[in-house]
Amino acid sequence: MKHLHLLLLFFLSYSPSAVGCMYAQAVGTQTIAHRGDWMPEGSAQNSRASLQRALDLGIFGSEIDIWLTRDGHIMVNHDRTFQGITPEDTTFAACKKIRLKNGERMPQLKDLLKILKKSKSPTRLVVEVKSHSLPQRSRDCAAAAVAVIRKYGLEDRVLYISFSIEACETIHQLAPKADVAYLSGNRTPKELHDMGLTGIDYHINVFRQHPEWVAEAHALGMNVNVWTVDEAEDIQAMQQLGVDYITTNKPKLCEELINP
Ligand code: MG
Repeated sequence: MKHLHLLLLFFLSYSPSAVGCMYAQAVGTQTIAHRGDWMPEGSAQNSRASLQRALDLGIFGSEIDIWLTRDGHIMVNHDRTFQGITPEDTTFAACKKIRLKNGERMPQLKDLLKILKKSKSPTRLVVEVKSHSLPQRSRDCAAAAVAVIRKYGLEDRVLYISFSIEACETIHQLAPKADVAYLSGNRTPKELHDMGLTGIDYHINVFRQHPEWVAEAHALGMNVNVWTVDEAEDIQAMQQLGVDYITTNKPKLCEELINP
């Protein structure tokens, strides 16, 4: 018995993948609300209300999408063009006229940072820098986000994600301690780790094709996030696989399943 114990200790101490798995199991899979908790009545995607609801749930994270306007304002919205307005091609004045489906005006990043700053919730903001029409615009948006998050002193309560490798690179250069995960699913954990990134945040189908990337990422000390997982059986399968975060449109359901 004692030998078995020692053998187990040796295995856990010296096998990087075992340590990675142990870490994932010890901390457990956690929930990120995709575009906030937006499905209930009175909420809307990427709104003040959806962030507040996610903060009230106390889940791990609440995700938003950001675009940089021509005049340097950071707007929160998913679509490249929304109600006929394309934030990256227009001004703040045009964007602020837009009403979301719950009647709120389209928020700026700083509006949501103020809500986060006031809240005592442990929930973090997961900021997706959208891929703008030019890589340089994605870099500019990333740099502007890093600056305003720093100004509000919220560096420890924010994680960054992007499909744009240029945006990821820029965030890492400007904020080397920040959590930065790449979304596109076409690079191995090792490639991203070599760039200094801290996570992979891939579509569920990527993990179906490359389940080994979970352990590979953990062995490198990286986090693993999966999107966008709304079905109960998929949530359970991803938890089984040992991912750290599940990004979902159904944060309450996800919490009930992974933390019964
Ligand atoms: Mg997003």
